[in-house]
Amino acid sequence: MANVTLEKVTKVYSNGFEAVHGIDLEIKDGEFMVMVGPSGCAKSTTLRMLAGLESISGGKIHIGQTPVNNLAPKDRGIAMVFQNYALYPHMTVRENLGFGLKLARLDKATIDQYVNEAAELLEITPLLDRLPRQLSGGQAQRVAVGRAIVKKPSVFLFDEPLSNLDAKLRASMRVRISDLHKRLKDSNQSATTVYVTHDQTEAMTMGDRICVMKDGHIMQVDTPANLYKSP
Ligand code: ADP
Ligand code: ADP
Repeated sequence: MANVTLEKVTKVYSNGFEAVHGIDLEIKDGEFMVMVGPSGCAKSTTLRMLAGLESISGGKIHIGQTPVNNLAPKDRGIAMVFQNYALYPHMTVRENLGFGLKLARLDKATIDQYVNEAAELLEITPLLDRLPRQLSGGQAQRVAVGRAIVKKPSVFLFDEPLSNLDAKLRASMRVRISDLHKRLKDSNQSATTVYVTHDQTEAMTMGDRICVMKDGHIMQVDTPANLYKSP
């Protein structure tokens, strides 16, 4: 079970600015939760607190049954995909995918198996021996997503992962990520996802539920159908 719960979570930055004001949210096991809202509403701050990249000033975060307030990012069972997916330029796609597993000291056979499974899920098997500069933007972003799923995390965190892609690629990546989420669920792998975007289409087409934020508060949490139905 990898549900994610936030209880009265607050963020006060070191300059005294309170960016997040005691928010409560539960993301269910396997759920695809999209966080939307205008620039500056604290989507990214919230995601970074889930990831452990930003300290929590008040409240509690649980991932599964585990309180994670004081856990380092690597111990949270999460994987994060950023907008600027920096792949290691001197490593092949295979090496990029396996690097984190190597650091975690998995044995070579397990690394090969996980890398091959992730490559198949993202349909990048033919690209495994290429270098990043030999990839298109969409291919590189698939490798970046691959680098997240290869670790078999309990929770996926996406921070505007498609913002740097052109409209056509964005459309196909939306479908690929939704499809990946479905296939992970169908194969009983953990698939709980928190996906930050300012793109309405991404929110509507990808989210099981959407969490609407404004000025560090949660305004609404509901399904796309309920949120966007005509009045
Ligand atoms: P904290 O330790 O609270 O996380 P940071 O190390 O993130 O603080 O912040 C370093 C400095 O950069 C702070 O003084 C902060 O005011 C400033 N800063 C960084 N990003 C922003 C931003 N988006 N808005 C305002 N100030 C910022
Ligand atoms: P969003 O992802 O929704 O655009 P952010 O989480 O980046 O919003 O920022 C939320 C608020 O916190 C903004 O007002 C931003 O300026 C402020 N902020 C972000 N980082 C810092 C920081 N390091 N120090 C002070 N304020 C920050």
